[in-house]
Amino acid sequence: MEKIKMSTPLVEMDGDEMTRILWKMIKDELILPFVDLKTEYYDLGLLEREKTKDQVTIDSANATKKYGVAVKCATITPNKQRVEEYNLSTMWKSPNGTIRSILDGTVFRAPIIIDTIKPVVKNWKKPITIARHAYGDVYKDTEIRVEKPGKAELLFTDIDGNETRNTIYDFECAGVLQGLYNKDSSIESFAHSCFKFAIDTKQDLWFSTKDTISKKYDQTFKLKFQEIYEKFYKEEFEKLGITYFYTLIDDAVARVIRSEGGYIWALKNYDGDVMSDMVSTAFGSLAMMTSVLVSPDGKYEYEAAHGTVTRHYYKYLKGEETSTNPMATIYAWSGALKKRAELDKLDDLYNFGVKLEEACIDTLLAGYMTKDLVNLVSDGVEVHSLNSHDFILKIRENLEKKLA
Ligand code: NAP
Ligand code: MG
Repeated sequence: MEKIKMSTPLVEMDGDEMTRILWKMIKDELILPFVDLKTEYYDLGLLEREKTKDQVTIDSANATKKYGVAVKCATITPNKQRVEEYNLSTMWKSPNGTIRSILDGTVFRAPIIIDTIKPVVKNWKKPITIARHAYGDVYKDTEIRVEKPGKAELLFTDIDGNETRNTIYDFECAGVLQGLYNKDSSIESFAHSCFKFAIDTKQDLWFSTKDTISKKYDQTFKLKFQEIYEKFYKEEFEKLGITYFYTLIDDAVARVIRSEGGYIWALKNYDGDVMSDMVSTAFGSLAMMTSVLVSPDGKYEYEAAHGTVTRHYYKYLKGEETSTNPMATIYAWSGALKKRAELDKLDDLYNFGVKLEEACIDTLLAGYMTKDLVNLVSDGVEVHSLNSHDFILKIRENLEKKLA
């Protein structure tokens, strides 16, 4: 069989530990035999980040700006223990954070759904995609622990020296204080990314905050979304028959549980953090969550939502068999290849991405899976629990059948 051609390279960001092992297996078994793969390779493994003083991460993000589509392996975000383990010169920042701030993107997370794994919420039939604003709020807050009575004020001094001052609370006792901020530019980018992604995936977009209580802060989010919707996206939404709607977060939570899924739920930073964990758990497994970073000017970076699966890697290093689920990482590849194909108008490549995903689903439906899924499948399915490599080989078998 002749290999499928590509015209523009994908930006390939390699990573760490168990996912780095899976990365190579996926390429060797599921991509390279079929696609004349073109990538611009960046090694974001911790050793290379140390060697290049993290320049490689910055370069990979800039390459994504240039080419438009990247696929990323999970990477270690160093903490104190990692600094010792890898003998690092400094505690390098999270690669995802660095890439996100260069691309100014929003992260969309969606579960991979199969018929034999039932979500905890019975009526969920289609994926719920969470769009989390990844800037500011409580993640960049300033806090004070108040130890005795006194007056807390919110003071803003503009560049001309004008002061705006509000009393927060006259403390008669000890307590706590917190200062938050966000920027119009970041909220606007978030809104643009969400509307573009909704159009791209032809799904409704929901947005929810607590604007009834937070009459300036959350209200700003609500108004920006509405304004941007009407000015830039309303027409396209109507043409596609999809809808945008805003609702109070309390109402959204109730509606989400009663819904059958199949939409994007956009949330502020903290809400998105918490709700994405709830949604992924309710759908089954972190190993089945895909993730894509979309910039407001339409650049895409695909990855798995999970980390480097350290515990499995240590077992692997000891020569023990591991059964790590490669699904989300395979979907990062298929997602990136499909997006590249769309941009370059390459039908064969797009088709390959679709078939690769179908081969994965067929394999799971036939009962072949990694250990983590075994306890989640419905009764009556004959289960074959496989190690990562054998699971990938089984997918390859199904893929070859589909491509023949
Ligand atoms: P993790 O790698 O997601 O793993 C947590 C646990 O979830 C695993 O120990 C495993 O449970 C289960 N799990 C996750 N993915 C799985 C898969 N594909 N197949 C089977 N089981 C899976 O999170 P972590 O242990 O908190 O973090 C490890 C490293 O990853 C850290 O250095 C962190 O900085 C990094 N990280 C990177 C990213 C990213 O690059 N996007 C995201 C998160 C974390 P069992 O052990 O019970 O089998
Ligand atoms: Mg969380």
